[in-house]
Amino acid sequence: MVRRWLFGDQLGPHFLDDPAQPVLLIESKAVLRRRAFHRQKAHLVLSALRHRAAELGDQARYLRTETYREALAQVREPLDACHPTSRAARRLVRAVGVTMLGPRGFATEPADFTAWADGRRQLRMEDFYHAARRRFGLLMDGGEPVGGRWNLDADNRQPPPRSGHLDVPPPPMPVEDEIDEEVRADLDRWERDGVEFVGRDGPRLFPATRAEAVARLRHFVDHRLAAFGPYEDAMLAGDPWLAHSMLSAPLNLGLLDPLAAARDAEHAFRQGRVPPASAEGFIRQLVGWRDYIWHLYWYLGERYPRANRLHARRTLPRWFAGLDADAVEARCLSDVLAGVRDRGWVHHIPRLMVLGNYGLQRGWRPGELADWFHRCFVDGYEWVMTANVVGMSQYADAGAITTKPYAAGGAYVHRMSDYCGGCRYDPKVRLGPDACPYTAGYWAFLARHREALRGNHRLAQPLRQLDRLADLDAVVDQERRRGSHAP
Ligand SMILES: Cc1cc2nc3c(=O)[nH]c(=O)nc-3n(C[C@H](O)[C@H](O)[C@H](O)COP(=O)(O)OP(=O)(O)OC[C@H]3O[C@@H](n4cnc5c(N)ncnc54)[C@H](O)[C@@H]3O)c2cc1C
Ligand code: SF4
Repeated sequence: MVRRWLFGDQLGPHFLDDPAQPVLLIESKAVLRRRAFHRQKAHLVLSALRHRAAELGDQARYLRTETYREALAQVREPLDACHPTSRAARRLVRAVGVTMLGPRGFATEPADFTAWADGRRQLRMEDFYHAARRRFGLLMDGGEPVGGRWNLDADNRQPPPRSGHLDVPPPPMPVEDEIDEEVRADLDRWERDGVEFVGRDGPRLFPATRAEAVARLRHFVDHRLAAFGPYEDAMLAGDPWLAHSMLSAPLNLGLLDPLAAARDAEHAFRQGRVPPASAEGFIRQLVGWRDYIWHLYWYLGERYPRANRLHARRTLPRWFAGLDADAVEARCLSDVLAGVRDRGWVHHIPRLMVLGNYGLQRGWRPGELADWFHRCFVDGYEWVMTANVVGMSQYADAGAITTKPYAAGGAYVHRMSDYCGGCRYDPKVRLGPDACPYTAGYWAFLARHREALRGNHRLAQPLRQLDRLADLDAVVDQERRRGSHAP
């Protein structure tokens, strides 16, 4: 049987055709030398690779080299590989003559995505998601969605509980072993030798093995999924996880199959263990959003990541790039940046509405921000950056995949979190020393892009409001002076 070259994000059993298939795993140090990754991300990826090698034993050849090519030069037998997740890796597979199979680890096949996308004026996730539900028979009663509605978000989106934390059992945390110890010692040594990382080291919080990933999925479905839907969009200073699954890292390492996870969620719903809105919301994330983002990476082409239709030219400030949360007084941004520094993870809304929103308002370069997300998050990979950061969060494609920019003022943060009460700024104030940088930044953003956004009917009302602001010139001037300084 041909030896299967598995990349570091192809570690689950579904990347092998036969459980006894011979395997090649390569640990390339050059990847870590090229750019400064979060220390906990480097740990997770190395730990997952080494755990997989240990599980496979003699079945795997595990090569530690500077580059992939150096390792491949040592292998004399024919190799095949599943389609990798980045263009650079795909170029390499082709260049070295390794047989390339189709992609795995996603639900929809590329041909089905292309058939859905070709000829459409707009590539809306919601339409793609309906097609995926039909294709896989997920939450369907015959040809109709269960309960007659495709999307139950109207039943979700609740503000956070007043108690300051969500009453659900915390996710099971991995127990580190001697492989983690070895990884930590190697990273310490490499750091001393000049390899740069960002963020703080800490206990490994995310699954590195299939068994750990399955345990977290099962626990989530049994104990946390019911609360997932209602509090999906809420943020709490004292509870970073809320009822999120924390499964993106093991999914992106290839340790879990998203379609199987979606079926687990449906099963729990059919047994009456979770409400429909929670099951639907989670399934939409898994086979809707995640697959949509993956396919867009390939479908939108090589130039899309460089899109910058709002002409955002500011470079990322040092405090942000270096995760210096202590330099920031704005409570929401400081807390979220500290979460990235300490865990390499925050949930979707802090990514979109606190970090991304701030970059959008300040005119930071979308490409730089995408690189930052890629390096600083434990689940960050190139394929997931393009549509999430460049498209959705920075609107750099001028609306190819979203109907309006995800720009919002402090009122949104105030409604969906408990941050504003303890902040030195006031979300209702846009001018003066107490002016919330998000509120003032929102109006300054709209003023800057007024003409470009004029035709967008979803922004008609805020643009009318903007035209009525008597103090707009002063707000714009204040935010020009604030610029990218830590707020
Ligand atoms: C600016 C920005 C950057 C992001 N960067 C990443 C990233 O680097 N890696 C990443 O996997 N996700 C990314 N996301 C999507 C999403 O925020 C994370 O997948 C999610 O927060 C991970 O936490 P979780 O596993 O608890 O997810 P849950 O809230 O429990 O959601 C379940 C699963 O759905 C999938 N999912 C949901 N939304 C998306 C999405 N928009 N794109 C891809 N998968 C999705 C994930 O696999 C996730 O594990 C980003 C979103 C934004 C707006
Ligand atoms: S007042 Fe503004 S800066 Fe402070 S927490 Fe609220 S939104 Fe964030």
